[in-house]
Amino acid sequence: MAEPIRIAYLYEDLMNTYGDSGDVKILRYWLGQEGYAVVVDNVSLGTPFNAADYDFVFFGGGQDYEQTVVAKDLPRFKDTLADYIEAGKPMLAICGGYQLLGAYYKTSDGTTIKGLGILPLHTVFKADARMIGDTEFETEYGTVKAFENHSGRTYFDDKNKLHPLGKMIQGYGNNPDDGVEGMRYKNTFGSYAHGPILRNANIAKAIAKLIVKSHLDRVGQPTA
Ligand code: GLN
Repeated sequence: MAEPIRIAYLYEDLMNTYGDSGDVKILRYWLGQEGYAVVVDNVSLGTPFNAADYDFVFFGGGQDYEQTVVAKDLPRFKDTLADYIEAGKPMLAICGGYQLLGAYYKTSDGTTIKGLGILPLHTVFKADARMIGDTEFETEYGTVKAFENHSGRTYFDDKNKLHPLGKMIQGYGNNPDDGVEGMRYKNTFGSYAHGPILRNANIAKAIAKLIVKSHLDRVGQPTA
């Protein structure tokens, strides 16, 4: 039996707003089309986790309250996830999960939720507008259509290291100032796009391809 592709879903039970689990279902479909079985582990509060055992890591969106709960458990993942990301293994983080890859998220009630601090970005609340609605942005994979619903505004602290995932056509994306959506660093993607984002087959197929490569690097090429 071929080894299945292994996906770690960080805090599946807590970080799943607006159907972000659909991203994992869609990847399961595209990977199935390539003949791969897929195992998804819910890596939640207290679950042991070694990122190197996985071919893909997914981190969905969440409300501020869930983010505060998750942020308390999260620091133990810092080293294993930083190594995984630096090694160029694929990861997708949506909205609340995207925010938690950065240094911090300062919420509407003034609380500062500490993030993993792996990527040079931070997120702040500003009272004038919650960013809600349909979004459309242009990426290297083509146009992506989704929707957003967040109060946090994300800014890059190192624009040489992080690249936007796309240029806004409609909606806010990272924040109302920069005109860009999401982030790419090596093969780690961050985005505010729910919908789920991977209903856009162009980007879903590109990520599925990265996952297959990551899987083959981990388990070795098939012999027959
Ligand atoms: N709670 C965060 C915010 O409002 C993230 C929201 C989300 O994940 N949809 O900015």
